[in-house]
Amino acid sequence: MSGLRIKYLKPALVAEHLARADALCAATGARLTPLRRRVLELVVRSGRPVGAYELLDQMRACGHKGAPPTVYRALDFLQQQGLVHRIAMANAYVACSHPGCDHHALIFVCTECGNALELEETQVKASVAARAEAVGFRVPGQPIEVAGTCPLCQEGRP
Ligand SMILES: [Zn+2]
Ligand SMILES: [Zn+2]
Repeated sequence: MSGLRIKYLKPALVAEHLARADALCAATGARLTPLRRRVLELVVRSGRPVGAYELLDQMRACGHKGAPPTVYRALDFLQQQGLVHRIAMANAYVACSHPGCDHHALIFVCTECGNALELEETQVKASVAARAEAVGFRVPGQPIEVAGTCPLCQEGRP
């Protein structure tokens, strides 16, 4: 195994993540409203890809009267700010592991347990951009998703 490890989020890391989001939004003038911040907190806290409806259920469980468009709008905002990534193959969202860095996310998605691991990757973006340019393809900054089996599932530990 090449030093690949799944990081589970501790409460201190959640607070740290939110503090970083506050600082980033303050720096760019983006409005991290209480609702957007709450959605981000739920995504960060989950520590794994989470769907919009699951987030909505969690919001309602703690007394928010959120409607689906509200949650989707909040997720759109968080994506634009680079605070979360959408994983298309799982139709789910995951907190960015290094917000504030200009990066093209490379995300490994485990097809068995649904966990995801974002890698800090600098070469992939350049490589994809170069090849896209060569064939005249325009690529948005969507994460590059790679399906596979995580170390825990390989060992039979879900
Ligand atoms: Zn990221
Ligand atoms: Zn797995």
